[in-house]
Amino acid sequence: MRLRINQIAVRLAYDEGDVFKAVCRKLRCEKEQLDHLEIIRRSMDARKKDREPRYILSLEIDYLGRPLTLQSGQVEKAPCPGPSRNFPPIGNVEHPPVVVGAGPAGLMAALTLAEAGFKPLLIERGAETGDRGEQVEAFWKKGVLNTESNVLFGEGGAGLFSDGKLTARSKDRARIRRFFETLVACGASPDILIDAAPHIGSDDLTRIIPAIRNRIWELGGACAFNSKLENIQVEEGVLRGVVVSGKEIRTDACFLATGHSARDIYSMLAERQVALEAKPLAVGVRLEIPQQRIDTAQYGRWAKLPALGSASFRLTRKEEGTARRCYSFCMCPGGLVISCASSEGLLTTNGMSFSARDKPFGNAAFLVPVDFADYTAIDRNENPVLAGIEFQKHMERAAFEAGGSDYGLPATRLIDFLEGKIGALPAERSCSRAVPALLQNILPEFISTTLQSAIPNMLRELNDVKLEEATLYAAETRSSAPARILRGPTGESSTVKGLYPCGEGSGYAGGIVSSALDGMKAAEQFIFTD
Ligand SMILES: Cc1cc2nc3c(=O)[nH]c(=O)nc-3n(C[C@H](O)[C@H](O)[C@H](O)COP(=O)(O)OP(=O)(O)OC[C@H]3O[C@@H](n4cnc5c(N)ncnc54)[C@H](O)[C@@H]3O)c2cc1C
Repeated sequence: MRLRINQIAVRLAYDEGDVFKAVCRKLRCEKEQLDHLEIIRRSMDARKKDREPRYILSLEIDYLGRPLTLQSGQVEKAPCPGPSRNFPPIGNVEHPPVVVGAGPAGLMAALTLAEAGFKPLLIERGAETGDRGEQVEAFWKKGVLNTESNVLFGEGGAGLFSDGKLTARSKDRARIRRFFETLVACGASPDILIDAAPHIGSDDLTRIIPAIRNRIWELGGACAFNSKLENIQVEEGVLRGVVVSGKEIRTDACFLATGHSARDIYSMLAERQVALEAKPLAVGVRLEIPQQRIDTAQYGRWAKLPALGSASFRLTRKEEGTARRCYSFCMCPGGLVISCASSEGLLTTNGMSFSARDKPFGNAAFLVPVDFADYTAIDRNENPVLAGIEFQKHMERAAFEAGGSDYGLPATRLIDFLEGKIGALPAERSCSRAVPALLQNILPEFISTTLQSAIPNMLRELNDVKLEEATLYAAETRSSAPARILRGPTGESSTVKGLYPCGEGSGYAGGIVSSALDGMKAAEQFIFTD
């Protein structure tokens, strides 16, 4: 009988022998009665500061011993594997489907289409990974911005220079597995298949992403870099083609995976009367503190164990009376704070890491939710659906100016921010092109006051962290899409048949995994349409 066994505790430096021993103890059997061990999931248990952290495993194993009493949640019959995905034969395809955007959503949409036998054309406004890396270096080191190929645009999308956290809140286990298996087949560590908090650093992503593109090529797809979607051609509510860098391309299916920073796409869609709606967002700052403090706060005296790696945190201040909610987001342990821009004169910040996550600082966004009433109060845009973008731009323009108008990142010590003054920045920090600034001049007042009241108390939850050691960078404006491109039940735009908005820019997904899954799902909805 094949069993699924949960809650097997092993030391951090475990080997297969340790796992067999723990299973034998649990089932009261001999090792000879066990075969074909497969670890399904691995999470770290570091809750008790007086006990060395350990891994808790879920696994499957063939059990050949005497009959057992099964215990729900502990020892169960292993579930049967789900049916494998079979694509239907494809008929006569007059025009290949076009996928726009080579971020996680577009790459996985194009790969799914290619695996099903279509020969998709993948269009990307930015450069391929290698050239893009050089353009991003020039931006970070000298403030030279290429508006088409940068930290947000180019092969790999916004996920390329990221922390590469593969956080998956979705219950769509089958697609998550397919996405992770694709990453592993393209060079990611197989650990991501079992870890509860899987992570791929930016260094690994720059190898993995081109390998995914090569698979699309090998299956007959095509990729055009430095090629920008400028318009869509629609006749009586049906997509007839797209205009890419001045050239018309006939197609009946376009997967719009352009991410949430393609503001020109939202404007183009609004002009073409494609159904959109405004969406709440969250904005704030990126906070950086010494990683060693986070490690000791989370792991106590075990903090120096190499197997633990850099610790993470997640903090929330609930809404209380008139005080708004504030939460930490996209924590990058042992990472770097970076500046990001895709338009002249507008600047935003974010965090990234490498696979080792071994830099001396950890950072996270501290965000305050913002709804439609908040941003329309600040800017009365002619088109209320795009008011969220204007609200973001307001802060990004102020951040650009406060940073010296050359893409230096405005920053401050937390204690100076709390006192409302400008002081010198700490010499030790992850972002070298940072400029001392009064962040209150960049953020709307209600955001500044919320952060001033929330951050100190939130950080006190991490015992060892000292407020004087925290640095803030502004402004974090692009944590989610500012608008939603409305979809119907087939995954197509509710107003344009053949147009499949997907990924983060559609407003229905957020983060690497959910965007990749959304791209796969959109492609499958097209493939399985009669
Ligand atoms: C610095 C940073 C760190 C992050 N860290 C994490 C993390 O650790 N974990 C996580 O889950 N998420 C993280 N994110 C968020 C994550 O990267 C996004 O959620 C994800 O990339 C969205 O995927 P997407 O494919 O929908 O869009 P994107 O990744 O934004 O890709 C869209 C692509 O479309 C292209 N495009 C846009 N307009 C056009 C056009 N007109 N023509 C042709 N191409 C076009 C763009 O160039 C881009 O390559 C991070 C984001 C940033 C910026």
